[in-house]
Formats: sequence, structure tokens, C-alpha cells
Amino acid sequence: MSAFQKETVLSVRHWTDCLFSFTATRDPGFRFQNGQFAMIGLEVEGKPLMRAYSMASANHEEALEFFSIKVQDGPLTSRLQTIREGDIILVGRKATGTLITGNLIPGKRLLLLSTGTGLAPFASLIKDPDVYENYETIVLAHGCRQVSELAYGEHVVDGLRNHELFGPLIRDKLIYYPTVTREPFRNRGRITDLIASNQLFDDIGQSSLDIETDRIMLCGSPAMLEELHAMFRARGFIEGNHSQPGHFVIEKAFVER
Ligand SMILES: Cc1cc2nc3c(=O)[nH]c(=O)nc-3n(C[C@H](O)[C@H](O)[C@H](O)COP(=O)(O)OP(=O)(O)OC[C@H]3O[C@@H](n4cnc5c(N)ncnc54)[C@H](O)[C@@H]3O)c2cc1C
Repeated sequence: MSAFQKETVLSVRHWTDCLFSFTATRDPGFRFQNGQFAMIGLEVEGKPLMRAYSMASANHEEALEFFSIKVQDGPLTSRLQTIREGDIILVGRKATGTLITGNLIPGKRLLLLSTGTGLAPFASLIKDPDVYENYETIVLAHGCRQVSELAYGEHVVDGLRNHELFGPLIRDKLIYYPTVTREPFRNRGRITDLIASNQLFDDIGQSSLDIETDRIMLCGSPAMLEELHAMFRARGFIEGNHSQPGHFVIEKAFVER
């Protein structure tokens, strides 16, 4: 059996020159936990060209969804950005990753802090009913350079708010905090600075960071992760993993090559 399953692209939506999302069929045998990633890709010259991708869809959904960057000279995404409905993609059979609720010790407020395509695993987690069962408040922060880059996240959150079943469940629990660094917007600045200065909590009318109640998931650029990791460690937060749950968990949104 091949390590990759062939799936059919069902829809593609381009959000900006650099970002797109797409849905694909899902093999009924492909299981994952919300927040995990898998290897996905294309067959190029008879060989699989694969990269890590977080599932942006939740595990109760029939189709798979991904939120992708377009790197113009990127081996995969220079090609992947041209996919259309009916095309075939490859999806690895095994999902993995640290951004799962089981890697966190119980808490009351879940902070999901992302930049760029780092939103993807959280798009999956905010569709997970267990997350709302286990936490009183979920804060989804998404930082981008330009306002247009927030569009996919806004679309996912709006979809949930207007969803027949999820709408009432999340109304009082999910706080969405988009922020932009390079253009005027209602929230401005880097997530790192907004947390360090407490501005983020002031803006959403919530209490300050508190190790007793806050559990954190981080997914973003290597620089953002490094800074927040140091900040949380300095405040006594312990990083969790599969063998030892902690106060926060980290996943890279991409690696610098
Ligand atoms: C755990 C994990 C999960 C990932 N999940 C996603 C996801 O859900 N969506 C997604 O688009 N990518 C994701 N990536 C990145 C992805 O694996 C590829 O790097 C990306 O698709 C580009 O592939 P490429 O072959 O075109 O270029 P690559 O050769 O892989 O990358 C070229 C360069 O582009 C930049 N880059 C790559 N990916 C990104 C990105 N997402 N945002 C900003 N800059 C980037 C980096 O500087 C990198 O050095 C993930 C990576 C990891 C490690």
C-alpha cells in the first residue's frame, strides 16, 4: 500500500496573490485529531512532491480543507496554486502534530495564537465541539501584514458564527482577534508585542495572561514562535508534548529552507 492516498480536489478559492484554500475528498480511513498536520502534495514527473500541511477542516467533516501559501519559486506551491476542481492531490496516510488539546493540562481559557498560514490548525480546532466543552473562552488571534490576508480566517469564523449548530455554541465563547502590521486596521501590531504590552487582553476586555487559567497553542513564523516561547517560559509556562502535557504547545507554520 502506498504511503499516500490520491484525493480529488473539490474546490479552490484564491484569497490573495499569496494565499489560497482548497477542499478535497477524504478517504474514510484517514483519521486525524483536530490541530494535526499531514504530508500532502502532487505527483511531479512520476514522483510524489510532498510538504507538511495542517488540516484546516475538522475531523468530523467529510471533506479535507487546506489553507496554503503561494511561494512563487517554491517546488510544491508554484504548482499547487494552479490546481483546479477535479485535479488529483496526494495525502499522506498518517497525521501527526503537537497542537492537540491532549498535550495541554486542563485550563479555562485557550489562546490560539497564529500568524499567516499558521491559522490553519486553529481553523480546525475552533470547529471542535470538545474545545468548547473543555474551555470557557477560546481566543483566536491571527496576525498578518495586510488586511486582505485575514480574509480566509474571517470567512471561517463567520461561517461558524452563522452555523445552525455551532453558532449558539460559540457565540459567547469564541473571541476572534485579527491584527495587521503594515496597514491601518482596528487592531494593529505584532501578536508578540500585543501580548507583552497586554494590549490584546485590553482590546478584547479580558483579564491578563494567567498561568492558572490560560493554555496556549502557537503556530506561526519561526521568529514569532521563538519570541513567544521565550516570553512564556520566562513567565513560568511549561511547554507540553505527547508524553508530558504543559501550559503551551508549539508548531511551526513553515520551516526556513
Ligand atoms: C508542521 C508544518 C505544517 C505546515 N502547514 C502548512 C499549511 O497548513 N499551509 C501552508 O501553506 N504551509 C504549511 N507548511 C509549510 C509547507 O510545508 C511548505 O513549506 C509550503 O507549502 C511551501 O512549499 P514549497 O515547496 O512551495 O516551498 P518550500 O521550499 O517548502 O519553502 C520555500 C520557502 O517559502 C517560505 N514558506 C514556506 N511555507 C510558508 C508559509 N506557509 N508561510 C510563509 N512562508 C512560507 C519559507 O521561507 C521557505 O523557506 C507547514 C510546514 C510545517 C513544518
